[in-house]
Amino acid sequence: MTSTRSDLRVAVIGSGPAGFYAADALLKSESPTVEVDLLDRLPTPWGLVRLGVAPDHENIKAVSRAFEKTAARPGFRFFGNVEVGSTVSHAELAALYDAVVYTVGAQTDRRLNIPGEDLPGSWPATAFVAWYNGHPDFQGLGFDLNTERVVVVGNGNVAIDCARMLALTAGELASTDTVDDAAEAIVRSPVEEILMLGRRGPVQAAFTPPELKELGELAGAEPVVDPADLVLDPASEAELEADRERARRNVDLLHEYAAREPEGKPRRIVLRFLVSPMAILGEERVEGVEIVHNELVEEDGRIVARPTGELETIPCGLVLRSVGYRGVPIDGVPFDERSGTIPNDRGRVEGAERTYAAGWIKRGPSGVIGTNKKDAAETVELLLEDARAGRLAAPGRDGDLAELLAEKRAHAVEYEGWQAIDMAEKAAGEPLGRPRVKLTSWEKLLHAGSKITR
Ligand code: NAP
Repeated sequence: MTSTRSDLRVAVIGSGPAGFYAADALLKSESPTVEVDLLDRLPTPWGLVRLGVAPDHENIKAVSRAFEKTAARPGFRFFGNVEVGSTVSHAELAALYDAVVYTVGAQTDRRLNIPGEDLPGSWPATAFVAWYNGHPDFQGLGFDLNTERVVVVGNGNVAIDCARMLALTAGELASTDTVDDAAEAIVRSPVEEILMLGRRGPVQAAFTPPELKELGELAGAEPVVDPADLVLDPASEAELEADRERARRNVDLLHEYAAREPEGKPRRIVLRFLVSPMAILGEERVEGVEIVHNELVEEDGRIVARPTGELETIPCGLVLRSVGYRGVPIDGVPFDERSGTIPNDRGRVEGAERTYAAGWIKRGPSGVIGTNKKDAAETVELLLEDARAGRLAAPGRDGDLAELLAEKRAHAVEYEGWQAIDMAEKAAGEPLGRPRVKLTSWEKLLHAGSKITR
C-alpha cells in the first residue's frame, strides 16, 4: 500500500510506550494529517511493557490496551522484524518519510566498572529481566540460581523487580506469563537471602513506595531492614523535611520493616544502605562481593556517597547489577556517548534534519510508562510545528517501506502478524489460567507472525 492520502508520512522507530504515544499524538493531528509506520527490530510491539515490566505486574501491562487502540487508528502500520541500521538505514528512511522519530529506548545496561564485573554469575539486571520476560535474544543464558544468596546492586525499581521475582513462590508465579525456564529456576533455587545494596541512604533510594510496599506482602519472603541503617545524617534529614513524598513514604515503610518480628518465611529480602561494591570476587565464577561502607556528603548541591574505607566481604553465588539502563547508538544518527542519548532540543535531534526523538533515548532512562506520554507529546508538537512551517519538505518521498523491504527480501511482521502471535500466546495461556504463554524464540515468533499475509 503506497500512502498518499495524508499530508505527512512519519516513521517512528521503536514500538515501546514512547513510540506508541508518539504515533498516537501524530495520528490524532488534523492539520496536517499524518500516517505513521511504526518499526521495531523485534517481531512484537510494546517494548518494555512486554519485555521489561515484571510478569506479576499484569495491571501495569494493561496499558497495552491503549496501544491497541492506537494501532486501530486509520493511517497506522506496524513493521516488526525491521532493524534500523541493518535492515534499513536512516538515510533510506529519511528518503521515504517526511520525518523520522526515534523512540528506541535504552537497550543496554550501565556498567559498574569494578574488578570481576564480567565473572560468570555476574549479570546485568537488564539481562535477567529480559530472560524471565521471554525476550528472544536472552533465552538459554543459563542463569544459575543454585545459590543461597543473591546480591542485587542498585536501589531502583528494576532492582526491586529482580529481588521480588527471585522471591516469588510457585503459587505466585502460576498466574503470570513468566517464561517456564525462569519460573522453574526461581522455584527450585535454594536461595534464602536476596540482598539489595544501595550506595546512598534510604532517603535517596530511587525505588517508589508501591514497589517497596510489595516486598512486605509476599507469600514466601519477608523484607529485612537494620534499624541502624535508618539513622539519618543531617543532610538526609533536611532532604526528607523538604517534602519529598516518595522519600517520606519509603522511609516510613522501611521503619515498619525494621520493626517487624521475623516471620520465618523461606526467603529474606535484605535492604542495606550506604554500601558500594568494590569488586566481584571469585576464581572461575562469582563467589562473593567486596563492599565498602559509605558516608554521605554534599557536592554541587547533591548528596553523594563517599567511601569510608571500611570494607566487608559478602559471600554469594549470583550478582545482578541494576544500576540503570543505557542507550545505544544507531548508524547515521547523532549520539551523545556521555549521556547515552540522541542529542536533542525538546525532541528535535541536533545535527540531523527531519529527525526527532522521544522517550528514554531522548531524556535518559527515567520515569514511569506514563512519563513518556508527555515526553512524546512535546516531540510531536515540535514536529507538527516544523511541518506547518514548511521545514519538513522531504527531497524524495516516493516509494514505500513495504516495497523497499520486498526489494531487500526482508520479511516484516505486520500488525496482523503480531495479532496472530498475540492470539497464539493467549490461547496457550488460557487453559493454564495465565495471561499468555510467550513464544520465546525468533523462529517461533516469525513463524506465528507470518501466518497472516496481506
Ligand atoms: P534508576 O531508578 O535510575 O535506579 C538506579 C539505581 O542504581 C539508583 O539507586 C542508583 O543510585 C544506583 N546506582 C547507579 N550507579 C551505581 C553505582 N555505580 N553503584 C551503586 N549503585 C548505583 O534505574 P532503574 O531501576 O533501572 O529504573 C529505570 C526507570 O524505570 C526508573 O525511572 C524506574 O522508576 C522505572 N521503573 C519503574 C517500575 C515500576 O513502576 N514498577 C519498574 C521498573 C522500572 P544513585 O541514586 O545513588 O545514583
